[in-house]
Amino acid sequence: MYEIGKPLKIENVLIDVPGEDQVRLQMVSAGLCASDAHHVWGEQELPAQFLPMVMGHEGAAIVESVGANVTSFKTGDFVLTTFMPQCRKCSVCLNPRTNLCEKENGMAVMSQANKKLASNNSDIFGYCGLGTYSEFILVRFSQIVKVSYFFMPLLVIFTFFCFYRLKILL
Ligand SMILES: [Zn+2]
Ligand SMILES: [Zn+2]
Repeated sequence: MYEIGKPLKIENVLIDVPGEDQVRLQMVSAGLCASDAHHVWGEQELPAQFLPMVMGHEGAAIVESVGANVTSFKTGDFVLTTFMPQCRKCSVCLNPRTNLCEKENGMAVMSQANKKLASNNSDIFGYCGLGTYSEFILVRFSQIVKVSYFFMPLLVIFTFFCFYRLKILL
């Protein structure tokens, strides 16, 4: 998305190798959520410095590679993406009734470009730090949740993503 309220464009993007706290995911499926649509339709603002942006924040994926500090995920793991980062260490993350992490911040992760436009190598952002409407994405490991093989097929799993923040899924 280059401009709010304008049609999306399909572009080639470059995805870097994972940094220390990052994972690179191969997307299996992505949800179409009203949150994405409100921006695309021009009904909801998005800070201009975040554009251009790859939309999409719901997704099911397979871990393709992990950064040096990532020990809780490995290549081949099945995961869901979450737009609310979870450090899994702070008192809020450890509380079963809340999940607004004290350490990780949704706007902060969204402000970090995680892709490059292939045409001119310029920065491009991922919605909610994700941008799941891309074949591969680079994210912080705090933005993925491992799911069991038995939750397959992934094409079905992703539809529950938005409920993860309500602690319904896990
Ligand atoms: Zn959603
Ligand atoms: Zn936390």
